[in-house]
Amino acid sequence: MSATTDQEVSTFRRHLYENDDATFPADAYIVKGWADGIAFHVLGWQLVPDEDTEWTGIYERTGDVYVVMVGDDKVYCVEVEDLVPISREDYCGVCGQIGCCHDAR
Ligand SMILES: [Zn+2]
Repeated sequence: MSATTDQEVSTFRRHLYENDDATFPADAYIVKGWADGIAFHVLGWQLVPDEDTEWTGIYERTGDVYVVMVGDDKVYCVEVEDLVPISREDYCGVCGQIGCCHDAR
């Protein structure tokens, strides 16, 4: 893995992640086999410090993805293969549930 100097590291409630809108272009996702009925926003790739982070400031991706539940602020770490993109019409912006329409769209 080659080190980059332009890595953009973000944090959300102490979780380190790297934004990647190119890989995660959808507004929201469901997590297949775990939370099929709830929408999540993708934060980005989970990052962990490597052995040189203290000097280089470079973090490594684990390959897993941080998501945050719509209507909540709990962060979960999920496998990228389990993410299924959904459109804005599919979920409720208030509670995050698929098929609920109490956000009155
Ligand atoms: Zn709702």
